[in-house]
Amino acid sequence: MVVCVEITDQVTYRKKLEENEFRLKMAVEIAELGVWSMDIDTGIFELNDRCRKIYGFLPEEPVNLEKIRATIEPKYLAGALEVFDEMIANKTAAYEHYIINQQTGQRLWIKGVGKLLDTDQSKSRISGIVLDLTHQKEVQQRKDDFIGIASHELKTPITSLKSSLQLLNALKEETDNKMLHKLIDMSNRSMDKISSLLDALLSYSQVSEGQMILNKTTFNISEIINNCCGHVIASNEYTLVLQGDKDVGINADEHRVEQVVVNLVNNAIKYAPDSKTIYIIIERYASFIKLSVKDNGPGIPEDQIPHLFERYYRIGQSDKYQSGLGLGLYISSEIIKRHGGEIGVISKLGEGSTFWFTLPID
Ligand code: ADP
Repeated sequence: MVVCVEITDQVTYRKKLEENEFRLKMAVEIAELGVWSMDIDTGIFELNDRCRKIYGFLPEEPVNLEKIRATIEPKYLAGALEVFDEMIANKTAAYEHYIINQQTGQRLWIKGVGKLLDTDQSKSRISGIVLDLTHQKEVQQRKDDFIGIASHELKTPITSLKSSLQLLNALKEETDNKMLHKLIDMSNRSMDKISSLLDALLSYSQVSEGQMILNKTTFNISEIINNCCGHVIASNEYTLVLQGDKDVGINADEHRVEQVVVNLVNNAIKYAPDSKTIYIIIERYASFIKLSVKDNGPGIPEDQIPHLFERYYRIGQSDKYQSGLGLGLYISSEIIKRHGGEIGVISKLGEGSTFWFTLPID
């Protein structure tokens, strides 16, 4: 007896599956992706060839969590383990750290993301990808080093230029020469711009090299608004409206907090110039304060919001109309994070933006 079954669908399905598998394999190879998967119960890893090469494991060498842990530079170990817990708790988490390749001893900067697989059979597996970004990290480091050296070298001549200008300012009244007055005023304006760019570069170097030291004191958060936003109040073009809890003291680095507030207020003026009223709202919670800077400007496209606090990030057209390095929000977020606070923005196109940060009270 012969039984015939028509299996066209199964064959087509299998072919499609093979095709997709091939495409995926190609993509993984081209992107040089290390792919890993770990059994949470046993801690045993399965790694593709690229992943083994990145970590320096031999082709057939069994790999477990202990072995992976041993590759991570001690400085990053605690953070890496936290990320691992996060993967289990939040289902997905990303990591970036230095490892030591077990074959060559080379120090490699890797970036990866892991995901807890949620299907019933594979409940206890975490899978992820990893990329070797050592070259990009080195380029970034060279750029940071250059900014560090250049800004440091510029500090002395700019300080002496500034003192000369202050002297010229004092002498200005002794002459009626209109041209001289105009030139001195222009120089003052340019000097203010150079100073704020240099401040941004110096702060960036301190932040990126982890050298930012916080000098904490107790001060009233609303008082710093008058100290640091005097230039806006004096200009008479914009109105600063302070709302909320005006009498709350915090323990933080006053100069650094001022830097953040100035940056947010200056951004409101720069990027929302038609919004003539800027609101500063202070809210007090049990253990922290929240300060928001609100404008009624053009707002920010939703897809740009997650990137705003990254270094050198500027929204497409902003570079055309306004000078800036794309570092202000990055520096602000590092300052706030160093204090143990959080920073963010709520914005909708056409409805303005509210940048906010929180700081622990003690
Ligand atoms: P920059 O030094 O270039 O001003 P920032 O890091 O301070 O850099 O800001 C990053 C980008 O965020 C800016 O280029 C601008 O496009 C956008 N941005 C910041 N504040 C506002 C705001 N209040 N309204 C609209 N866009 C803003």
